[in-house]
Amino acid sequence: MIDRREFTRLIGGLGLAGLSPALLRAAAIAKGNGKVVVIGGGAGGATVARILKSEAPQLEVTVVETQPIYTTCFNSNHYFGGFRTFASLQHSYDGLRKLGVDVVTDTARDIDTGKKTVRLASGTTLSYDRLVLSPGIDFKYEAIEGYSPQAAEIMPHAWKAGPQTLLLMRQLEAMEDGGTVVMAVPANPYRCPPGPYERACMIAHFLKTKKPKSKLVIFDAKTMFAKQLPFEDAFAKYYEDIIDLHLTDEIDDFRVVRVDPKTMEVETKSGMRLKADVANVIPPQKAGEIAQKAGCADGDWCPVQPQSFASAKVKDVYVLGDSAIATQMPKSAFSANSQGKAVAVDILADLAGAERYAVRYRNTCWSLLAADDSIKIGASYKPAEKDGEAFLEASGGFVSQRSERAEVRRKNYLEGLAWYHAIIADAFNDDTAMGH
Ligand SMILES: Cc1cc2nc3c(=O)[nH]c(=O)nc-3n(C[C@H](O)[C@H](O)[C@H](O)COP(=O)(O)OP(=O)(O)OC[C@H]3O[C@@H](n4cnc5c(N)ncnc54)[C@H](O)[C@@H]3O)c2cc1C
Repeated sequence: MIDRREFTRLIGGLGLAGLSPALLRAAAIAKGNGKVVVIGGGAGGATVARILKSEAPQLEVTVVETQPIYTTCFNSNHYFGGFRTFASLQHSYDGLRKLGVDVVTDTARDIDTGKKTVRLASGTTLSYDRLVLSPGIDFKYEAIEGYSPQAAEIMPHAWKAGPQTLLLMRQLEAMEDGGTVVMAVPANPYRCPPGPYERACMIAHFLKTKKPKSKLVIFDAKTMFAKQLPFEDAFAKYYEDIIDLHLTDEIDDFRVVRVDPKTMEVETKSGMRLKADVANVIPPQKAGEIAQKAGCADGDWCPVQPQSFASAKVKDVYVLGDSAIATQMPKSAFSANSQGKAVAVDILADLAGAERYAVRYRNTCWSLLAADDSIKIGASYKPAEKDGEAFLEASGGFVSQRSERAEVRRKNYLEGLAWYHAIIADAFNDDTAMGH
């Protein structure tokens, strides 16, 4: 049976710390085998699969993932700045397969939550005892007139890493010196709140070193953003003649509402128009389509129980990562990985009929500003309730300050690289990922 103290210890350590194998095995054995299907082999889904299979090998764990190789969005901005190769962002599923996880390269098309089955594009049907959805994001193309999956082939978002990342890089490389890059940034919530500003630094670094007469114009639907002060300092310190940031204010609404891929024109709500040589259009986002199809969404995103990331709407289904509403946790790979641990533990406790204990999540996001200059933001989160609404309450928050010593910023950079190595090992059972 489940040992209370062991379980408390296990639940308490949901950072990047290890779990208690003995307990997890005991938990799984207590109720015999079970079938867990995970849809989406990214930061969240791979973590759940890795933990379930390594700690409870007798469980049948299947990951359904469209892409044969996962390209991380995290650290993909470094590629634009020349601080990372594209290949170093790519990871196979060999590590998960080595553990015995059945990784199926296919796309989940439909879910019957009554019959507990998943239908794949290939025609195969999988049955499950517990279903885990970590499909990331999909785009609300319709929010920007003229934008579409086809338009994204001309004006890339590069907000799902892979071919889009390469396309944006090729366009930057092909642009004449003296050209204009336009970036459209959406309103909250979206995947990786500081991501657009790290990208701005990395694109500006590329321009500064390769095409110094060029400009980067940012049209932002927001009035403020994460780590804003140190970011603005970096824009002024390193990229003053390159970055031109337009934040929305009471006079001007810089939300991009229309684009024309033929003329390369970008238009904001307040009527400003600009012709881009390269347009990086990041549209508003929503939960991955399959989570919507499963009936887990309420509007754009999926409500969950903060204690476990079990769907608040559908029984025996978990939703984690970017698709979930994890207020106040930001949508990040670090968050998805931390949530993945809670999901795996909850599934095992569930199959064992064990009691649940308090859970605590963590997040940290590093953003690279220039060589050896990185800032970070982070906090811990625990389930809380206010006016009958369950949410994840932040505590112990920290954020990089302005004018920190170079040594501190370099340490942040190295810490971020170490985290990259650690999360790839933790989620994909692959400790060969380069830290830089
Ligand atoms: C530019 C950029 C920089 C970022 N930097 C950081 C950072 O520094 N730190 C950080 O913590 N986070 C960062 N992030 C955010 C991070 O990438 C995401 O928050 C994280 O990947 C979310 O994990 P997930 O499991 O929800 O989704 P994903 O990692 O996107 O995984 C979802 C997977 O599901 C698959 N899928 C979707 N639907 C289906 C289906 N129907 N059938 C089969 N497979 C399906 C997809 O192919 C995908 O592989 C960044 C994001 C961007 C865009």
